[in-house]
Amino acid sequence: MERRKLVIVGSGPAAYTAAIYAARANLEPLLFEGFFSGPAGGQLMTTTEVENYPGFPEGISGPLLMEKMRRQAERFGTVLLTEDVESVDLKNHPFIVKGSSVQVEADALIIATGASANRLDIPGTRDGEFWQKGVTACAICDGAIPIFRNRPLFVFGGGDTAVEEAIFLTKYGSKVYLVHRRDELRASKIMADRALHHPKIEIIWNHALARVEGDDVVRSVTLQEVNTKQETKHEAGGVFFAIGHTPNTKFLGGQVETHPSGYIKVVPDSTCTNVPGVFAAGDVQDHVYRQAVSAAGSGCMAALDAERWLSAKGHH
Ligand SMILES: Cc1cc2nc3c(=O)[nH]c(=O)nc-3n(C[C@H](O)[C@H](O)[C@H](O)COP(=O)(O)OP(=O)(O)OC[C@H]3O[C@@H](n4cnc5c(N)ncnc54)[C@H](O)[C@@H]3O)c2cc1C
Repeated sequence: MERRKLVIVGSGPAAYTAAIYAARANLEPLLFEGFFSGPAGGQLMTTTEVENYPGFPEGISGPLLMEKMRRQAERFGTVLLTEDVESVDLKNHPFIVKGSSVQVEADALIIATGASANRLDIPGTRDGEFWQKGVTACAICDGAIPIFRNRPLFVFGGGDTAVEEAIFLTKYGSKVYLVHRRDELRASKIMADRALHHPKIEIIWNHALARVEGDDVVRSVTLQEVNTKQETKHEAGGVFFAIGHTPNTKFLGGQVETHPSGYIKVVPDSTCTNVPGVFAAGDVQDHVYRQAVSAAGSGCMAALDAERWLSAKGHH
């Protein structure tokens, strides 16, 4: 079986940045960029303009940014495999990494498989319908897009993220409706109070999304009262899901410690996991920032942590 000093799993900003650093440090990384797990290139492949990644004052399309990162990783010798890692064995060293067709041994492993934003599967919100035409799962990323300006915006969720996103969107929308299935928010009291007292936010209790309609972009949402099932149609310019994320860690088979929320636990100020030689970077370990630039930053940290760990262990 082929043995590698470093295997990287994932293909977003964290994985490619880790690969750039590791390849330049002569670690000859092998990178599994995924296939069925999501588009190679990660979450930014599903968006249009990225306006907050430094170095691109005019903005850059998500897929183009990822293509550039990928090329930069390749330029320094990263070997890319467009397949998923299906399982790993981290109990013995070297680790064993099983892809869909390839199996390798690895002295060190960087996990950068990201997190998938949870979406509601409701008529009108799917790919090919209004997904990314007014329906999104990231207010911070997409809120500033012109189609949302001075329009009524609907946020679905009831936790801290939903409240945070609703408050953020008040900068853009004419009014922000926070729609929640229950009659109280799950958000912390301080966050809930902010939403309750915000002049531009109205909370719609005990309602769920039934349908999204529009033309080129979203024009209306139909909500359903959860008890009476009565439906009401509202003018809408945007639909924002804020119902959490699921970190992509299934292939680890529970061998790396995670928080109850599913995010990988790292030692503070590092990317070290509970398994020596296994590092985690990007959204898979970050439930707080979840941005491309912070993912790239932690990818850099993971490569440096891996390099130091490998050289301390004598794997040059
Ligand atoms: C619609 C949208 C718009 C966004 N816009 C912005 C923005 O404008 N600015 C910004 O900073 N951030 C934005 N974000 C957030 C940003 O995309 C993420 O923070 C960032 O992509 C996280 O990077 P990552 O490297 O952790 O992994 P991800 O981008 O999540 O990529 C991980 C990838 O790893 C691969 N993978 C998963 N499992 C496996 C496996 N078992 N084997 C092999 N490969 C696997 C998959 O291809 C997966 O997509 C946006 C997110 C979304 C959803």
